[in-house]
Amino acid sequence: MLPFSSSDTPAASYLNTHPMESSRLLNSLIEIVKTVEGASSNNSIDQIINSQILRRLLSATYFRDVETLKHSRRVGLLSVGIGSRLGWESDELRLIEIASLLHDIGKIGIPDHILHKPGKLSPDEAEYITAHHRVAVELLQACRANSELIEIVAQSHGIDFETNLQSHEIALSLGSRILAVSDAYESLTSSKPYRPAYDEKEALKILHDQSEKGFDRNVVAALERWLNSDEAEVLDDESAAEAAVRANAPTTETAKANMACICQLFQYLHLLESLYDAFYIVDDSRRVVTWSTGAARLFGFPAVDLIGQSWHRSIVASTTSKKDPIEIAFTEFKPHCHILNLKDVEGADREFDVQSVPIFNDEGKVVAVAEFICDGNESKKHRGQFRKLQMAATRDALTGVVNRGELDELTEQVFAKWEAEPTIPFSVVFLDIDHFKAINDRLSHAIGDRVLIDIARLIQDELYSGEIIGRYGGEEFVILCPETPLETALERAERVRRAIMDAKIAGREDLRVTASFGVAQVEPGDTTETVIKRADQALYDAKNAGRNRTCHRATRRTKESPTAEQVKNQKQWIYRTEIVTCVASSMLPAKLKGYVLDNLSEILEVNENELLLQVGVPGVFGGWGSKTDRQPVKVHIEFQDLPRDEKVAGTKRILLKTTTEPIGRPSKHSTFHTRAMYVVESLRSYLIAD
Ligand code: GH3
Ligand code: MG
Ligand code: MG
Repeated sequence: MLPFSSSDTPAASYLNTHPMESSRLLNSLIEIVKTVEGASSNNSIDQIINSQILRRLLSATYFRDVETLKHSRRVGLLSVGIGSRLGWESDELRLIEIASLLHDIGKIGIPDHILHKPGKLSPDEAEYITAHHRVAVELLQACRANSELIEIVAQSHGIDFETNLQSHEIALSLGSRILAVSDAYESLTSSKPYRPAYDEKEALKILHDQSEKGFDRNVVAALERWLNSDEAEVLDDESAAEAAVRANAPTTETAKANMACICQLFQYLHLLESLYDAFYIVDDSRRVVTWSTGAARLFGFPAVDLIGQSWHRSIVASTTSKKDPIEIAFTEFKPHCHILNLKDVEGADREFDVQSVPIFNDEGKVVAVAEFICDGNESKKHRGQFRKLQMAATRDALTGVVNRGELDELTEQVFAKWEAEPTIPFSVVFLDIDHFKAINDRLSHAIGDRVLIDIARLIQDELYSGEIIGRYGGEEFVILCPETPLETALERAERVRRAIMDAKIAGREDLRVTASFGVAQVEPGDTTETVIKRADQALYDAKNAGRNRTCHRATRRTKESPTAEQVKNQKQWIYRTEIVTCVASSMLPAKLKGYVLDNLSEILEVNENELLLQVGVPGVFGGWGSKTDRQPVKVHIEFQDLPRDEKVAGTKRILLKTTTEPIGRPSKHSTFHTRAMYVVESLRSYLIAD
């Protein structure tokens, strides 16, 4: 374990720093950087990041938000646990531990109303947080932290380490994959304002389920092995956690002032990022100290290539001026404006306004010069507005998820991909909140809105990478699941359904919200409209069957004309059908239990190969009511092993012969048959069967 200890570097001058004094803030950055330059050590932590700086950053995290530090510490324990199970050496373990401790330091500069927002972040707020993580990466670069450390921290926020830009295509290093798993596991096992904590088993299952697309299977397996070992007991040691975290508390006024200064520095660097196209700082020995993401983009050199290197004007532009404006700022001690002529990527000439600003230390000496650069003709504000407009055009204003127009567009795109490669399945989930009108009527339209926001967020939380959720209209959402067969999409829908059912929505104890789901897989001959329509029809089935359930439809079955037996069935108080499931026999009881719990059912009898279920509750006089849950039926199920299906890689299949009879006397054969069909269809969706 790393030595946690409080930071108390003498910087009494910051006690009197005015929070708006930007030169003071940048001077503190220069001081931090100087800490590294002066230090020479063989200490193994210093090889990764200067240990004084590490202490200050952890202390600043404590100062800003204790919960973030607690989270980071647990992520560190998990990462080291995983690394040890993967046979990592102590140096590598230390690296991953420090990366875990620092992965959220960007949060230091984020104000409370965003950091602790109980609801979903708006796209702008999310972008604001990501921008802060980029600032954190810049700061680590300025502190000359080990490049592997920076890479892991950057990648954990989807930031490309070389360019500092967002990228969905980065190949994650093993360290980043470990951090991704431990971070996700830690989050899943902690409770959030909008959902309770998952237990160990559930969290692992979610990570396992996402192996295909997100999390590294080996890493998840290593985590599981570690959690099963005695070493994992350290996670439960509350007093050790308390002590380790508290060791970072800044205890003196000076230390607190120092930490406040670091928090402001983060905010100020973010301000510079958002106001200027590029900025960088050159210190008094004419070395590049910081190099912003914008600078990397504008001049085409990544920060890694420049930080610590000698400054020369030709790095940013060919220059004809006799004296570099940076030198002028150094010698004349005052800010200085000039124009920079650059060619953009298309080779066109562009003019940039540059301000060179001297940075003073406490003795009034110029210790560095910062240059802020912006395009003279295009204001960043306008670009910001453009981005906002673009967002508004594609996002639903209330929930922040993709809006209907964009959803249609994306459906077309995913569909076109499927058409190009029809062997890769594509499924669509349609969902509609149950009795939503009643929520509006009973509680208010504003609470109704809150419900929509929370549910959209909850769904986003449950989605896997690559899946898209859009608001179809009112209280209806569509989830596009590319590369997903029907069975998996059904599982996904069920997970989301249960999450909604179990969640505390709109912060109210007195509110239980459920939703109904319809699922369809794209089939040959489909168009985007027909598949959405089929999912919508399945949703309609789910509503009819009593809501809070998932149904699916496939053209194959709906097109089949009824068999002779089915016709005969229709004239009787009995409904027979068969279900074939690929669910392993060991899993069957759990799946059936899930069905029983969710559907007002009761198991009446269990024998070796049969089961008798009652679904629904008889009315007071034993008869049938108008609501489906007052239309009780008895379902007899007989299980039979089928030969393996060679078409589906020898999957083992089980045949369920179901016979449904009414309890009491329905008014019409057709009422009974509709009810029986929905009961069996719903059972089928639980068993994810054909
Ligand atoms: P069902 O279980 O059959 O789906 O019943 P329901 O009440 O959910 O369905 P219905 O379609 O009758 O009512 C949907 C309601 O959703 C009606 C409409 O006023 C409300 N609604 C639509 N958009 C919004 C919105 O943005 N905010 C709020 N608060 N309500 C909305
Ligand atoms: Mg509804
Ligand atoms: Mg509706």
